[in-house]
Amino acid sequence: MSARRPEAIDHRGRHSPEAVGPLASNASGNIGRHPAPLSARASLMQEPVLVLNATYEPINVTAVRRAMVLLLKGVAQAEELHSAEVHSSAHSHKVPSVIRLLAYRHIPQQSRALSRKNILLRDRNTCQFCGKIFPSSELTLDHVMPRSRGGRSSWENLVACCYRCNNNKGDRTPEEAGLKLARRPRPFTLHTSRQLMRLIGHRDERWRKYLFY
Ligand SMILES: [Zn+2]
Repeated sequence: MSARRPEAIDHRGRHSPEAVGPLASNASGNIGRHPAPLSARASLMQEPVLVLNATYEPINVTAVRRAMVLLLKGVAQAEELHSAEVHSSAHSHKVPSVIRLLAYRHIPQQSRALSRKNILLRDRNTCQFCGKIFPSSELTLDHVMPRSRGGRSSWENLVACCYRCNNNKGDRTPEEAGLKLARRPRPFTLHTSRQLMRLIGHRDERWRKYLFY
C-alpha cells in the first residue's frame, strides 16, 4: 500500500502484466468455497480485499495475499472475514474480506489509480465508439486526443476501445474520424474511486456498508 506512481501506459495503452493499479485486482469470484483445494487456493489468494483507512474510509483494494501480510505485520486488522481459511504448516488463517489500517495514512488524490484495468472497468468493457462489449483481451485503450497531437494518458483522455475502432480512428480525433464517444471520459474523482470499488466488490456483501450502497 505504499503510494505508487501512475503506471506507464504505452501508446497502445498496454502495460506490463505485473503493473496493476492500486484499485485493480483479480476478481475471480471464487469466494467462500471451503475447504479450498490447492488450485483454488491460488485464486483465493488473489481475491479482492477492501482496504479502509484508520477512519473507516475506503481507500484501496488489494489481494488476499497482500492483505494477510499487512495483518501479520500488525499494520492492519481484519474487519470482515470470508468463511474460507488458508492453512500453513502450523496454523490456519481466516481469509479477510475487509481490512482496516491501524494508523491513519494521508492518501493523495488518487490519479495514481490510472491503469488499463481500471479504465476497462470504468467503461464496463464497452468499446466507447461502437458500443459493443468485449473481453479485456480484445480491448485496447484509445487516446481520444491522439498522443501525436499532445493527448495525455489520463482518465479524461483514455477510453476502452476495440481494435477495429482503434484502427479505424488511427491518429485522428473522434470528430475527424466520424466517430462518436458513447460517454465523454471524466477526470478521476472520489466518486470514480468508490464506483470502481463497488464494481470490484459487487459479489461481496461484506463491502457494502463501507461503500454506502
Ligand atoms: Zn469498437
